[in-house]
This record gives sequence, C-alpha cells and structure tokens, in this order.
Amino acid sequence: LNSVFSDRPQSIFPTMSRLAREHDAINLGQGFPDEDGPREIREIAAQATIDGPNQYAPVEGIEELRTAIAYDNQRFYGLDLDPQTETLVVSGATEGLAAAFLGFLSPGDEAVLLAPFYECYAPQIEAAGAQIKLVNLVPPHWRLDRAAIEKAISPMTKLIVINTPHNPLGKVMSTDELSLIADIAIENDLIVVCDEVYEHLIFDGVPHEPLMTLPGMRDRCIRIGSAGKTFSLTGFRIGYVSGPAHLITGVMKAHQHLAYTSPIPMQKAVAAGLRMGDDYYAAFKADMQAKRDLMAAGLAEAGFDVLPCAGTYFITVDIHSVGRDDDAAFCREITEHAKVAAVPISAFYHPSQSDAPRNFVRFCFCKKPEIIREACSRLSSYL
Ligand code: PMP
Ligand code: GLN
Repeated sequence: LNSVFSDRPQSIFPTMSRLAREHDAINLGQGFPDEDGPREIREIAAQATIDGPNQYAPVEGIEELRTAIAYDNQRFYGLDLDPQTETLVVSGATEGLAAAFLGFLSPGDEAVLLAPFYECYAPQIEAAGAQIKLVNLVPPHWRLDRAAIEKAISPMTKLIVINTPHNPLGKVMSTDELSLIADIAIENDLIVVCDEVYEHLIFDGVPHEPLMTLPGMRDRCIRIGSAGKTFSLTGFRIGYVSGPAHLITGVMKAHQHLAYTSPIPMQKAVAAGLRMGDDYYAAFKADMQAKRDLMAAGLAEAGFDVLPCAGTYFITVDIHSVGRDDDAAFCREITEHAKVAAVPISAFYHPSQSDAPRNFVRFCFCKKPEIIREACSRLSSYL
C-alpha cells in the first residue's frame, strides 16, 4: 500500500496487549486503568443513551460540554475562554491531535518533536505531508537542549509539540523549561500543540502549569485534554481542545472531516464530570501517587534502577541494571517468561532514529495494588 500508516508496524500498545493475552501475563504495557472511573459519570451516559437524542451532535461539541471545558480552564488555570469559539470537543485526544496536525500543517511545513514522544504524533504529522525535525531529550533527566531545538528550527517550521506530564517518561516540565519553549515559540512565530492529557496526574504537590498561561502564549497554543485520562474512561473517546479562536477553527475544520462528531451521551456525562468537586481530583491524584510509590518500590526490589516519575501513570526503568540492553527483546522476554508485559521506550522514537536508546522500559501502574504487588513479585522471582 505504501502509505504513511501502512508502512509502519502496528502500534506498540495493542501489539503488547495481544502478547500479554497470549501468555496470560499481567498487562503493564498499554496504559489503561483496570477500574472504570466515577459511577455517576457512567450513569449519566447510560441514562442519556436511553433518553436520546442519539443523532449527530454539533460538530464543535454540545454546548453543555463546551461550557464545562471553559469552566475547567478557568477553575484550574485562570484561563478565560469563550466556549463558543475557543473550545472544541473531539473523539479522544488522539483524534484531537490528528485534527490539529491536519488543520495546521501543509506539505513543505516542518514540525519539531522532542523524542521520545507519544506514538501517534509522527504518523499523523507525516500524513499531513509535513516534515518532522527531531530533537532528543537528554537522559537520565530528559533535559531540554535549547541549542538543539533552535538548530532544528527553520523558516519552514510551523509548530512544536510538547507533552507535559510526559508519556512515556513521567517527566513534568518545570517553569524554566516552559519558558524556554515559550521564548523559542515567540522568537520563531510557532504554534505549540500542548498535549496535556495527564494534567491531573502530577504528584508530590506540584501544580500543573499549561504553557498557554505563560506571557505571550495565549494566542499561539492549543491545549489538548482527555476525559479518558481525567476520569479513567479511556473507552468513552472524548477529548477536548482549548485555544484561541483562529487555531480552534483550524482544528475544527479537520475534525469535521475526521470523526465529524462525538456521541452525545458521552459528551453529557463528561460535562458533568468536569464539574465534579475538588475531592474527586485530590483522591484520584493521591490514589495514583500511592500506586506510583508501590510500583517504584517493587521494581527497585526486583533489581531495577527506577527513574523518577513526577506525573502520568507510567514509570521507567533502566534495564542495564538487570544486565539487559535491548528494550524490545526484554519486553517480550518478561511477557513470555515472567508473565508481566511492559513497553519499550525505543517505540517512542521515530523509526529513522537508529540512535534511540534501547535500555529503557515503561511500566503502567494504574492497576489495583494487589496486581502491582503480584507483577513486581513475578519480576523479582524471574530476574
Ligand atoms: N497523548 C498522550 C500523551 C497519551 O498518553 C494518550 C493516551 N495514551 C493520548 C494522547 C490519547 O488519548 P485518548 O485516549 O484521549 O485518545
Ligand atoms: N496512551 C496509552 C499508552 O500510552 C495507550 C493508548 C492506545 O492504546 N492507543 O499506553
């Protein structure tokens, strides 16, 4: 077929999930919670499905949800958005990202990605006909290299993508790092696509800081959020995009020809979710932080060097510490023999990057504590 999508292997997430099923392994590869989010939200979706309407929603999303998205931006970040022109409902952050890249980029344009990066960015950008300029984050702290980013920018550069908290690294960008991106974006007149799907999963009392709140950034950023992550309902497929009207229009024009709309019952339910009290968010974060701590301790006990995890529900280990040097082979090995699945960090680099590190592996910890304990105990016995 020879297309951007068909020339790539199947996504690492379903690939590892399939291998986990085949070997009856605990699946700490693909990131999804093992318990569904708030029952109130699911009940609203169920009732709204019965009551209807179940016809096409407005392209931009139902008013109730767009108002709730604006409320959420104000509530957590003091951002003042017009729900009518500055918010958009999408069918998951994945579709929102695709709509942003297809809405903003043309053949000849360039986009900067900081590697490693979430898997869908590269094929989506290339499907828009744009060229990707890659800049590696520098391990072990995954530092941003200002000179390397500046070197990657040309007059053809239209946008840069940032992801904080970061999947797969669990890194949260500091204010200094956000300022560095802001400086570069302003200097080079770039759009910044901000993937903030883990905005409510930052640990140790650190607040989430959207790049859009920095001086000069309000009109050049779009912020992408996901009800899948915020409410542990990844199957609902509801995401939201916030930003200035001219950028939202660009995303909407692609969205209307991709997903077109998202199911009304899910939108109604997520609108209610976004109005839940602070106690929901506090409990969600505390629960995930406790799971991170349990997972980090268990992996260290099994013999791994565990890298810091400041946010998301993923934690990274260095497999040199257990005498291995091929992340993809190691993920297959532990799925088959230790009966625990994980994903290789090299899958989050561009296929052209033969210099990608091969010594890091990601484990997902949004699982029941007994599952985390059992997985760590299996790894410990095996290694
Ligand atoms: N961006 C990042 C960084 C993610 O981790 C994910 C989900 N794994 C997505 C986007 C896609 O989210 P959604 O399920 O809402 O499409
Ligand atoms: N975002 C999840 C992860 O990083 C998986 C999403 C997917 O399967 N597409 O594991």
